[in-house]
Amino acid sequence: MLADLGYAPTNNPAASDMILLNTCSVRGGAEEKVYRRLANLRIYKRDGKKQIIAVGGCVAQQEGDGLLRKLPYVDLVIGTHNLHLLPEMVRGAEQGERRSETTFIDNDQRLDLFPAIKGESRLSRFVTVMQGCDNFCSYCIVPYVRGREISRRSADVLAEVRQLANEGVREVILLGQNVNSYGLKTGHEPSFADLIRLVAEIDGIDRIRFTTSHPKDMSDELISCFGDVPKLSSQIHLPAQSGSNSVLTLMGRGYTRESYLDKVRKLRAMRPDIVFTGDIIVGFPGETDVDFEQTLSLMEEIRYIDLFSFVYSPRPGTKAAELPDDQPRAVKMARLDRLMELQRRHTRELSQPYIGSTMSVLVEGEGKLPGQVSGKADIGRIVNFSGDSSLVGLFVDVKIIKAYPNSLLGER
Ligand code: SAH
Ligand code: SF4
Repeated sequence: MLADLGYAPTNNPAASDMILLNTCSVRGGAEEKVYRRLANLRIYKRDGKKQIIAVGGCVAQQEGDGLLRKLPYVDLVIGTHNLHLLPEMVRGAEQGERRSETTFIDNDQRLDLFPAIKGESRLSRFVTVMQGCDNFCSYCIVPYVRGREISRRSADVLAEVRQLANEGVREVILLGQNVNSYGLKTGHEPSFADLIRLVAEIDGIDRIRFTTSHPKDMSDELISCFGDVPKLSSQIHLPAQSGSNSVLTLMGRGYTRESYLDKVRKLRAMRPDIVFTGDIIVGFPGETDVDFEQTLSLMEEIRYIDLFSFVYSPRPGTKAAELPDDQPRAVKMARLDRLMELQRRHTRELSQPYIGSTMSVLVEGEGKLPGQVSGKADIGRIVNFSGDSSLVGLFVDVKIIKAYPNSLLGER
């Protein structure tokens, strides 16, 4: 959108005409970072320079006008439903106007406003299938800052994927806060499983991923896609958040440890080489040592290839923020350390058996070292190997020779 207005990226913030911070408020730490960055940006404007400072994303949505009042050097605040107003807001700011827009718009209008995501990669692209969330997990701010769940028209999704395929894209990542509930509310769109099957029919697209899945909505129909849609990646992100039923209940997640494990078992039956990644929150209010041990034992049962782990962060307005949060920070940090230690071991142990195997790698660009190229294997791991730029855009068979914590090394 900014390119259409004549803007181009630069690495020199001091000399730039506009700085736009795209912000996240899912944890307190991310939000504090925004304020630190904004405080630093102020210096650029001190000599009366005409520079637009804009804030978008979830912190903008949350703070709205307040940001303009608190920070006189901020020109634009643009909420999560208002991106379509960006061009007129930027034109206004060029004339010295300061403006904040954070009104949620109704669903009919939103259907026409799903922005295409112009990613960096020429070969792998995100395609939004739904936005917002209705789940209200007790710790989570997303439903408040992104609004109610809305599924995009399947016809629009498929048209965008077809267009990307024509441009040479080989892999799409279907994106939403909870993709598995895609279409359910509309009553007339295909289910997410059917949407995957329709995307898989598009020539040129050879690999399909999706994120994020809520375990409670992981239907048998979706699980069966892993059996009969070969284009579907063998990696799935399935956040458990905790291995303790009492914590899961307080989180309002709508599944138990047992039903989560049951879905994992079914997925493994459909696709024996499937690998799991996940999210875990440690230190949720009231989490006891026993609860935490159950999370570790869940990890032992699943053996994630990779895990995102977070210390619980109270978010304003959420239900969990009202719960007494009585454990000392040191206890939470010690739990996080133990969990990460276990995860490092699992990543190591799960990666070792790949040594000697051959993986199909979609080559996306230069590798870690000179003379190397890099891409992703079907299981989502990054693979570096010797090769030149003529391989970019191809699926290349690569034999794995070494496993590192965050990547694999291979040879053709
Ligand atoms: N819609 C996705 C996740 C969105 S937020 C899903 O349901 O899986 C990404 C991750 O941030 C969550 O999975 C959770 O692990 C973490 N998270 C969300 N709110 C948090 C909070 N208040 N404190 C710590 N971690 C949080
Ligand atoms: Fe947040 Fe995800 Fe729960 Fe929605 S499903 S409330 S985005 S954690």
